Amino acid sequence: MPLYEYRCQSCQRQVSIRMSYSEYDSGRPKCSHCQSDRLQRLISRVRVSRSKDSRMEALADPANFGDVDENDPRSVGKFMRRMGSEMGEDMGPEFNEMVGRLEAGESPDSIEADIPDIGGSAPATAPGY
Ligand SMILES: [Zn+2]
Repeated sequence: MPLYEYRCQSCQRQVSIRMSYSEYDSGRPKCSHCQSDRLQRLISRVRVSRSKDSRMEALADPANFGDVDENDPRSVGKFMRRMGSEMGEDMGPEFNEMVGRLEAGESPDSIEADIPDIGGSAPATAPGY
């Protein structure tokens, strides 16, 4: 399960909370020190979207696709996971979820509908979807 970093607005401590994606979607995480639910995600929006843009640019470059079958979500997912590990940075829970679901054979359209952050205004990773 992914680890989420928060700063507690009540006791000002940093807390790391491990939870599943469904818990993240539906639940309200609680501070492990004071049980407050006034938690703020520690990853800055700006930083995330900037790295996502460059990531998407790289993904949109057909030269990077190599042997990927872009009509096969599993193939695309495998490629994106490989690229993520090559870039050596934390791609964030949304990226990991998207890759996991691609590898499970889910269509990118339905994944993007569930994770609005991922698609955004970035160029389509695979024309034709
Ligand atoms: Zn607290």
